[in-house]
Amino acid sequence: MKKDNLPKFAVDCMLGKLAKWLRILGFDTVYFSRIKDDDLLRIANQEGRILLTRDNRLSLKVNPSRRLFIESDYWPEQVKQVLTELGLKTKIAPYSRCLECNTLLKAVSREAVKQLVPAYVYEQGSEFSICPQCSRIFWQGTHFRDMDQKIISILATYKKEEETTKSGENG
Ligand SMILES: [Zn+2]
Repeated sequence: MKKDNLPKFAVDCMLGKLAKWLRILGFDTVYFSRIKDDDLLRIANQEGRILLTRDNRLSLKVNPSRRLFIESDYWPEQVKQVLTELGLKTKIAPYSRCLECNTLLKAVSREAVKQLVPAYVYEQGSEFSICPQCSRIFWQGTHFRDMDQKIISILATYKKEEETTKSGENG
């Protein structure tokens, strides 16, 4: 998979949870809890990002190919809409991106982080990554277990829906 072909997102202030989840799933996502509409549009434009918004007025300022109007106000539905409409279900790469600054993470060895994380994390974590930008360390294990469950449940709904659609088409 070529990373370059993946869409990048600029997410409207009111969609913080969606932004966070797109990052968790590995997509290049910029989000500001406070930003002027014009500034957000400028960033989206300059960086070739797709604008995700629930604001109709804002949405209409953008070329239809560069925007996605988010329908639900419930974040799992929002994530689903983005992945479905942009055909990204098979492109997710969970935990590949820093949740704080959006930078791609680098894998580091367990030994390398021994002095940098709490002892229980070192003991329980199996895979560690570091953000080259902000030096934050991420690990899989207890830290992510709750997220894992959510991702699994999101993907599980897809599967069900796909199967329903398929059987509908065949019948
Ligand atoms: Zn970072």
